[in-house]
Amino acid sequence: MPRKTAFLYTDDFLAYDLGGKHPLQQRRLQLVDRKLASLGAFETITRLAPTSVDEALLGRVHTAEYLEVVRQASKPNHGLDLRRYGLGPGDTPAFPGMWEASKVYAGGSVDAARLVLSGEAEIAFNVAGGLHHAHPWKAYGFCVFNDLALAITTFLEAGLERVMYVDIDVHHGDGVQVCHWDDPRVLTLSLHESGRWLFPGTGGVEETGGENAPGSAINVPYASYSGDEVWWPGFEQIVPEAFERFAPQALVLQLGADAHFADPLAHLQVTSRTWMRAVEALLVLGKDIPIVVTGGGGYNIATVERLWTLVALTCAGLSCPDSLHDTEVPMLDAEQQRTARAYLDSQLDALRGGLGW
Ligand SMILES: [Zn+2]
Repeated sequence: MPRKTAFLYTDDFLAYDLGGKHPLQQRRLQLVDRKLASLGAFETITRLAPTSVDEALLGRVHTAEYLEVVRQASKPNHGLDLRRYGLGPGDTPAFPGMWEASKVYAGGSVDAARLVLSGEAEIAFNVAGGLHHAHPWKAYGFCVFNDLALAITTFLEAGLERVMYVDIDVHHGDGVQVCHWDDPRVLTLSLHESGRWLFPGTGGVEETGGENAPGSAINVPYASYSGDEVWWPGFEQIVPEAFERFAPQALVLQLGADAHFADPLAHLQVTSRTWMRAVEALLVLGKDIPIVVTGGGGYNIATVERLWTLVALTCAGLSCPDSLHDTEVPMLDAEQQRTARAYLDSQLDALRGGLGW
C-alpha cells in the first residue's frame, strides 16, 4: 500500500568512517541511494538531506560527559583515555570529524521523526540510522550516538504516549532498550541471534523492562543458523500481538540487514523474501500511524544494497524488481533447523510467561 515516503540521504554520511578495514562500510548507503536513483524511485520518494542533530536533544539521550568526550576525541591529539567511553582501538575507533559525522546520521533519524509528525511524510527512512548499540554514556558496537532513542524522544516530546520500536537486526538492540528501559511509553522489541552466541550478549527473554515499565521490553532470541522456517514464526508469533496489545501511536523500525544468510558477522540464515515479508508485515501493522525506518547493521555490502533498496521501494508502494532478491538460497541442515525451532519454542514459552500473555 503506497504511502508518502521520504528518504534521508547525503554523501556526508560517508564521513562516518571507522576505517578502510572496518566491517562497517558506509559506501553501502551510497549504493542504496544510487540504486534508487537508477530505478527512478525519486520521482515518487522525496529525497531529502538530513540536518545535523540539535545538541540540546542529544543531551536528553546522552550524558553531558560522554558528549564532551566525543567532541574532544573528534579532534587530533586529544590525549584522552577513551576506553571507558567505548571509543578507541577496537569496534568503535575515534576518528577525526567523528562529532560532526555522528551528528549528521543522528540528525537524519530526528528529521525522519519530525517529517512524519508534521505529515510531510507518512514514512521516513534514514538509511544511515539504526545505530542501536550506543548507550547514554558510551559508544558501543560501531555506534556513537543512538539515533533511534533520539527519534523516539522526538516523538515523546511531541506528546505521543506510546511509541513502539521493532529491531530485526541480527544483534540485540541493547542501547535502545537501555535508553527506554524504565519508560512505559516506549515498547522495545528486538529479534536477534541469541546473546549466548553473538555480540552483545544481552537480549534474553527475561529482560522485560524496568520496575516502572514491566513488559516494555520484549526479546526474541534465536539459535545460531536459524533459517526462514524458524525466524518467521518467531516474528509472526510475537510482533503482531505485541503491536495489538500496546497500540502504538508511532513506529520506529531498525532494519539491520545482517540476519541475512550472506552476512559475514553473524549466523542466521534468513533469505531476502522472508526478511521482506517481515518488513511488509510491519508496514501493514503501522499502516495508520507515522513510521520512522532506519538501516542498521549489514556487512555484506551487495546484500545491504538490495535489501534497503527493497525497503524504500516497498514503503512507497513501488514495484520491486526480482533482481533485488536472492538468486540462491542457503543449504540448511534439517536436524539443525529442528533444534533451532525447539530452542525458539522454549524461548517463546518463557517470554509469554514473563509477559503474562
Ligand atoms: Zn547488527
